[in-house]
Amino acid sequence: MAAAVLAAAFLFAALPLPSPPLALPADSSRPTARGSFHIHTSRSDGSGSTDDVAGAAARAGLNFIILTDHGDGMRKPDAPQYRAGVLVIDAVELSTDAGHYIAIGLAQAPYPLRGEARDVVADVRRLGGFGVVAHPDSSKPSLRWRDWDADFDAMEWLNADTEWRDERRGLLVRALLRYPFRPAETLASLLDRPDATLTRWDALTERRPVVVLAGADAHARAGWMDDDANGYRGWFVKIPSYEASFRTFAMRVTLDRPLGTDAAADARLVIDALRRGAVYTAVDAIASPATLEFTAVSRTLTVRTNASSGGTIVLRKDGRILAQQPLPALTIEAPGEGTYRVEVYLDAAPGNPPIPWIVSNPVYLRSDGWGSPSPVDLRPPTITRSMQGGPWHTEKDDGSTAQVRQDNYPTGPVELTFRLAGGDRTVQYTALGIGVGKALTERRHLAFAARASRPMRISVQARQPQSGDRWQRSIYLDSESRDIIVPFDEMTPVGSGPPFNPALADTLLFVVDTTNTAPGTEGSFTIENLRVER
Ligand SMILES: [Zn+2]
Ligand SMILES: [Zn+2]
Repeated sequence: MAAAVLAAAFLFAALPLPSPPLALPADSSRPTARGSFHIHTSRSDGSGSTDDVAGAAARAGLNFIILTDHGDGMRKPDAPQYRAGVLVIDAVELSTDAGHYIAIGLAQAPYPLRGEARDVVADVRRLGGFGVVAHPDSSKPSLRWRDWDADFDAMEWLNADTEWRDERRGLLVRALLRYPFRPAETLASLLDRPDATLTRWDALTERRPVVVLAGADAHARAGWMDDDANGYRGWFVKIPSYEASFRTFAMRVTLDRPLGTDAAADARLVIDALRRGAVYTAVDAIASPATLEFTAVSRTLTVRTNASSGGTIVLRKDGRILAQQPLPALTIEAPGEGTYRVEVYLDAAPGNPPIPWIVSNPVYLRSDGWGSPSPVDLRPPTITRSMQGGPWHTEKDDGSTAQVRQDNYPTGPVELTFRLAGGDRTVQYTALGIGVGKALTERRHLAFAARASRPMRISVQARQPQSGDRWQRSIYLDSESRDIIVPFDEMTPVGSGPPFNPALADTLLFVVDTTNTAPGTEGSFTIENLRVER
């Protein structure tokens, strides 16, 4: 015991504790709400209940929290609620083929929302959700985001789990020893400016708006378990605590009115502000409270914070530093069209490179129409060849059923009625097929109209006869008929393989997407006016 105390005293002397946060004057000229995003509870791999988390948030002075338990789109999110005076917004962390994607404000989905990131991103948007790429640059490859062409709404510029993973073991041990004395300051001491992630974000926002949020990735557990384990068992300690996570850094959303008592209305207000990018991050363990005003009145950009000295305001245009000015304010005429954003540094900041105390979202000084998705090629096709006449066939495993029907041959719609075999997900497979000979050669895309008996995904596939290799593009269908174009250059190999070569494929398949369709499901879908074009 004495030895332990001595050891502790020695460590205390040898390892000075991180300084407590600078206490700054509050400045509340505009209604803001302080909140934390990316939180796991005991519903997935966190250690605390919703009440535990809300209680910790209240103690840390937060106004809202966004819970993001792992799950799929079919769990109906809990309605927003006030617990311990904190607005609790329930969201979900989805697992796509290219990394984790958090959906906020999502309606209950008709299917799980798994598979390719580009499809999950599209489905989250269709269902009214706001989607955030989680821990994009995790040092753990399976957690990293791998589809930077996907049209996601937002990404984490800072993720606490990523930040702590990259520290050297010795620093982590030192942090563990300091943690009991100054938890939040110790956690902040492990933060470094995530250069790579910010560079990526800057590149994206030269083409289109992308919001950034800070992800606490709070679990309040550390121990011997796999991040993606299903059972969430194993030994763990409740470190870092939810409260320490919330005191380390948090987001501020700028609101049109203060939060009140109507949880549903207040959640809409917060989520709308996130969508607009009316949100900045502050590392409270360096200095608190934190206020940033960043406005553009015509071309005049003004930045102001509540820290009056001991730091620098950095204004970036299209990722590059445009101006730096000592605290507390900076005013500049914008030199032209661009994406402008702010980082505020305090001299006391930890990290190598130092972590900014505040990171804003951008002000976009851009011309009309900038940032809208690059239009699909709207030139009318010069060559169109109808393939609606088939011949059509079905393909399926032994346990599933499939019937094809075409009234008004050869131009009428063709309908596949199917039932996937029940039981466990194994080899269930049911598809509508059509032999196309060499018809895809030197063509650019497939075009057709389609609808289905229920919201579902269909994998449009092309198959090569000798190798059996397939390429696919997933499409969304529901009861409303829609015109669909499948560009060949968007088709990707099923499994691994070379890029798609239309000249080598002789069969098209419309396959019920079993990633998102449960065994035992019955339904039908209809394809009309199938043609290949250039
Ligand atoms: Zn994750
Ligand atoms: Zn997570």
